[in-house]
Amino acid sequence: MRAIVIHGEKDIRLEELPMPEPKEDELLMKVACVCVCGSDLHYYMEGGVNTKRIVNPQVPGHEAAAWVWDDRAPEYGLKKGQLVAIEPAEACRTCEACLAGKPNLCLNQRFHGGPPHQGALAEYFKANRRMIVEVPEEFSPAQVAGLEQVGIGIHALRKADLEVGQSVAVLGAGPIGLILMQLARAQGCGNLIVVEPVDYRREAALKLGADHAVASFEEVKALNGGQGVELVLEATTDPAAPAQAIEIAKWGGRVVLVGIPTGTEYAPIDAITLRTKELTILSCKMMGDEFHEAIYAVKRGLVNVDALFTHHVEMDRGIEAYKVQAEHRDGCIKSVIYPNGVLKK
Ligand SMILES: [Zn+2]
Ligand SMILES: [Zn+2]
Repeated sequence: MRAIVIHGEKDIRLEELPMPEPKEDELLMKVACVCVCGSDLHYYMEGGVNTKRIVNPQVPGHEAAAWVWDDRAPEYGLKKGQLVAIEPAEACRTCEACLAGKPNLCLNQRFHGGPPHQGALAEYFKANRRMIVEVPEEFSPAQVAGLEQVGIGIHALRKADLEVGQSVAVLGAGPIGLILMQLARAQGCGNLIVVEPVDYRREAALKLGADHAVASFEEVKALNGGQGVELVLEATTDPAAPAQAIEIAKWGGRVVLVGIPTGTEYAPIDAITLRTKELTILSCKMMGDEFHEAIYAVKRGLVNVDALFTHHVEMDRGIEAYKVQAEHRDGCIKSVIYPNGVLKK
């Protein structure tokens, strides 16, 4: 079968790999589509995400929609040919973090799509039953693959504790930033300002309901009556973003860090500003048990995920799709790769 494989920094190839062989507790899945994620781009551009480095050839892809393709499907309460979502983070459900209701912090987590666990950007994939999430029949493969990112947004908003009417700034209008701003709007936020240097992404933010979209964080205060915002949602790769978030947060405000920064450190933050405003800083790692809320948000149109999918390509153009998205070319927000042929709907 064909798969896209990352061998190291800027070394990505389309290769022939053996078919996956599902074990006793796994099912064979035929991949409908896989979205390219910001974290996949870190693997491609830097050869790793934070300290997780690519050592062996790595199949990326953790935002996937697939058809159950295993004759044993009925034994697992599924139908052969059924389109489902994949939860890439396989939690053990027995460790202290899992028992505390925080599966994203599982101490024995197997994340499929990051080393050493292979991802879904191939014609076939194997998945544990616990990773398979049933979805409404009317969802397109791309919508199904987008659910994981919506779940991350819901997880972040849950931490944000947003109240109706509060002002919000979203740093970054990539896929996650555009999901966060839509969720903040759906939850009744007040003035909504998106900060994004890339012009077509600012346009997307305005179309999806932002009140303002500006190129630099320095403009935020002027757009919010001269004072900072009550909530800052950070969704960039910029190590300086936390410092910027602290700068534009109002006294007593909250900052939620969602983005994965380039490298392993944030830029220094101003201690005096942070303390004297008495800010609350929160961080996020992926999503928890938010898949079903994500399904609801997409089904009810609270989040328009289709607006994020600017590029739909077959496997032959998958490598190109990585490059286009990494370089912010051709109006790209998010690419969807279809290993078994393009199926937009
Ligand atoms: Zn992702
Ligand atoms: Zn666990």
